[in-house]
Amino acid sequence: MELLTKKVKGAEDILPADSHKWQFVEELMRDEAEKSGFREIRTPVFEHTVLFNRSVGETTDVVQKEMYTFNTKGGESITLRPEGTAGAARAYLEHAIYNDGLPVKVYYQLTCYRYEKAQAGRQREFHQFGMETYGSADARADAEMICAANGIFDRLGVEDIRLEINSIGCKTCRADYTAALKEYFSANKDELCDTCLSRLERNPMRILDCKNESCKKVAAKAPVVLDYICGDCSAHFEKVKTFLDAADVEYTVNPTIVRGLDYYTRTVFEFVTDSIGAQGTVCGGGRYDGLIEELGGQPTPALGFAMGIERLLLVMKAQNVELPEAPTCDIYIAALGEAAEVKAFKLAQQLRQSSISAEIDIVGRGLRAQMKYANKINAKYSVVIGDDDIKNGSVKVKDMKTGETFDALLDDFVDIFADKFIEYGLGAVSELIGEDSDKLGQALLGSLPHGN
Ligand code: ATP
Ligand code: MG
Repeated sequence: MELLTKKVKGAEDILPADSHKWQFVEELMRDEAEKSGFREIRTPVFEHTVLFNRSVGETTDVVQKEMYTFNTKGGESITLRPEGTAGAARAYLEHAIYNDGLPVKVYYQLTCYRYEKAQAGRQREFHQFGMETYGSADARADAEMICAANGIFDRLGVEDIRLEINSIGCKTCRADYTAALKEYFSANKDELCDTCLSRLERNPMRILDCKNESCKKVAAKAPVVLDYICGDCSAHFEKVKTFLDAADVEYTVNPTIVRGLDYYTRTVFEFVTDSIGAQGTVCGGGRYDGLIEELGGQPTPALGFAMGIERLLLVMKAQNVELPEAPTCDIYIAALGEAAEVKAFKLAQQLRQSSISAEIDIVGRGLRAQMKYANKINAKYSVVIGDDDIKNGSVKVKDMKTGETFDALLDDFVDIFADKFIEYGLGAVSELIGEDSDKLGQALLGSLPHGN
């Protein structure tokens, strides 16, 4: 019985009192991506397991330990997506989106599933926002993407977060580095966990990412990849830095950031904070020039990042970043009598069509209780319609904050109220996006028929 009212461990509900925060953050991310020419892609919540094995990589923690994999009744092996890159790349190939011309730039907002130990900033179902570019090997693509991620933190007002970048070279120059790592870790075998011992042969770079304390200690003194990268990779890295400098984006070079898969190349980056404890990486990304080929496509340079939205909200909370208040009802229309109920219902529908949020009684309360409810939901205005008012053709609208009233003809009610309302500020929409409209605000306000 208890299970009926208990969510699954590691999953979280986003409740009505909080969802406006999510909407605000999601809308802002969407806007940041669209401004740079990225378009949304939505892919299924599940994919064939082989896709993740290949794309995320057989030697990763995600594939080895964290995936929700099951067999369907038809006997297919299906996995709930642990991340968004694989599905986007699969769709890019399946629908030959490259035929629309390169580069292809997409973004996504989705839930991900990983069977991990649930704790603050680490859930089994969580949300990611991510961006991907296909078909550009140019350093400007790297910088454009990093700037977009940075723009999100900037616009949200997140301060205590640092951008760390690194280059992990290309396939060719990586060979020397991998050999150096193999030699180093072989000499320190006794300190490595079992998983890392198996990685030593298959993919020693993955050891650098291990969370095991003993492995971490050994990894701290391992050779760093920046010392091994070739002239071309080094030049690419310098260019990325030049463009970041040009955009006034601050960063530090952290030679220990890696992505330990063969198809990852060159630029890698993370946005890291100290304000939310151990799970401090809010965003991670980089180039994977070998991925599309790995999935059977033509060699196509590509890059991307993913940002954890739960962690982002945690940082914002820890740093007291202000989020908009939940939107409240613009006008509550109380009704007394049957004819008034019909009129109130009709007005509410008309107001809603004019982008004004209106509420009426739908549970059969008396007048006093309706007004109490209007207070409780923080309605900005209220109006009472009785059968007499319908005969007279006029009603009094009350500003719930000041108590001031003004008269409005019932026939012109929607226009009169809308004008009056706009004089006082734009209500639900403006609260959600902030009164001093930035570009997002402008765009949304523009959608109001009476917008200024
Ligand atoms: P970590 O090192 O914290 O396990 P990761 O390297 O597995 O992170 P990525 O696969 O790069 O993470 O995912 C990108 C982002 O998604 C992370 O930076 C983080 O913000 C978020 N994320 C990853 N796993 C989780 C999770 N289990 N719960 C909440 N957010 C997560
Ligand atoms: Mg992880």
